[in-house]
Amino acid sequence: MTYDFDLFVIGAGSGGVRAARFSADYGAKVAVAESRYLGGTCVNVGCVPKKLLVYGSHFSDDFEQAQGFGWSTGHPHFDWATLISNKNREIHRLNDIYRKLLATSGVTLLEGHARLTDAHHVEVNGQIFSAERILIATGGWPMVPDIPGREHAITSNEAFFLQSLPERVLVVGGGYIAVEFAGIFNGLGADTRLLYRGEMFLRGFDHSVRTHLAEELIKNGLQLDFNTDIVKIDKLSDGSLLATLNDGRQLETDSIFYATGRRPMLEHLGLENTFVELNDAGYVAVNEHFETREPSVLAIGDVIGGVQLTPVATAEGTAIARRLFKPELYRPVDYRHIPTAVFSQPSIGTVGLTEEEAVAQGHKVTAYESRFRPMKLTLTESNERTLMKLVVDAHTDRVLGAHMVGPDAGEIIQGLAIALKAGATKRLFDETIGVHPTSAEEFVTLRTAVNHS
Ligand code: FAD
Ligand code: NDP
Repeated sequence: MTYDFDLFVIGAGSGGVRAARFSADYGAKVAVAESRYLGGTCVNVGCVPKKLLVYGSHFSDDFEQAQGFGWSTGHPHFDWATLISNKNREIHRLNDIYRKLLATSGVTLLEGHARLTDAHHVEVNGQIFSAERILIATGGWPMVPDIPGREHAITSNEAFFLQSLPERVLVVGGGYIAVEFAGIFNGLGADTRLLYRGEMFLRGFDHSVRTHLAEELIKNGLQLDFNTDIVKIDKLSDGSLLATLNDGRQLETDSIFYATGRRPMLEHLGLENTFVELNDAGYVAVNEHFETREPSVLAIGDVIGGVQLTPVATAEGTAIARRLFKPELYRPVDYRHIPTAVFSQPSIGTVGLTEEEAVAQGHKVTAYESRFRPMKLTLTESNERTLMKLVVDAHTDRVLGAHMVGPDAGEIIQGLAIALKAGATKRLFDETIGVHPTSAEEFVTLRTAVNHS
């Protein structure tokens, strides 16, 4: 049987574009359908605009610190509309680049919502296309808990397009997005309070990282309210919002930003016309080859609910393209040692096991830590401190995890991820000559073992 396409990709986000482009480059006949925006979440309402806003918000600290180096900066003024319109211009530039990349690879782009009509057919804008294989790469969507007044809350999707910067913001959640946006709002001058339902935010990160970051955020003027949740939101007559908390307190604010996780984007996807199944958490269930229960339908990226990061989605896209159309290059995705950064202020960089995970996995652990004032801040009023930590197997000397809170943590941790993947020992770290004077060199001069038990 002949099909219109060898591969039909639903969703032109991080994973879908990678799978489509690479498959086409390997000679397959490929289509990709996109209902909203080329480049998906990361380019339009995720990594890229978020990082631009983080850069924008950090200038308030930069102006202050510049004075210690002799600069008079006057009274800097911030204009939200300029930042957002410049950000939008950059995103449109990236959308065009994605369009060109797909065209250059010979991928057919169909702009519209795609719906599976059966295991080999997809409907877009009223037209039906047949494909030997269909790849679901539809990503995710913010989830707001079902509380009275939730319609008054915003999520990251709306935050990127606000008409003005709110004067007062409540950020709800304790994950990546909450911590990053709390830093953005705070840095830009909004009176910002982060509410998290548990004892300590950033569940799953190393405990030293979590507590160190909490201390630093408080120094930066961010208000942290743990063991706290909103039970109800009311809109007041003057347009402001009133949040009622689980402890009975009431907080008045201008904006309530929810970052309480994301759900898979499955709306009107037509999965009921196939044998595709969902797992217990509601994500598309796949095996190690990203195959669903329907043999011709595959899925990758956020919609399968694994590690929800762009480089992971693109790695999965690469793996799919190679396994199907260039098997000699195929290698399974290695989910160990995925480095990640939280672009909080200061930022987090982390790779490998946390101390808690290492202990839970049966390692006898030696942990090394260093806390210091970065050199750049020594001439300034800032008393921000950096944390660097290595988690080491006491028997084998292998470095199991590297963690940092401080400027450029993501930049620094990327190189360490290669060392950890290569199985570097603490001795190898110690024998590596540092780059002086940098913060990064601390990772090769860590001598002080700490005992957290
Ligand atoms: P997506 O990029 O979400 O792409 C899915 C695409 O499918 C979308 O364009 C959507 O419109 C389209 N689509 C959905 N349904 C249909 C349909 N039926 N028909 C046609 N098209 C459809 N990750 C990082 O690594 N670093 C970061 O700094 C980072 N920051 C983030 C900040 C925020 C605020 C958010 C929300 C996420 C961030 N992420 C970050 C996560 C990252 O964006 C995702 O992991 C990544 O985008 C997942 O890629 P994907 O291809 O699975 O899905
Ligand atoms: P996360 O899953 O990281 O965090 C969700 C947070 O919301 C957790 O603190 C969770 O608490 C809390 N929460 C969940 N449900 C509720 C509820 N009903 N009421 C109150 N609090 C609740 O999700 P995010 O939305 O922050 O981000 C989604 C994903 O996007 C991230 O996991 C990450 O993979 C990716 N991302 C990556 C970034 C990066 O690489 N820098 C940046 C932004 C996003 P608890 O811990 O108690 O469950």
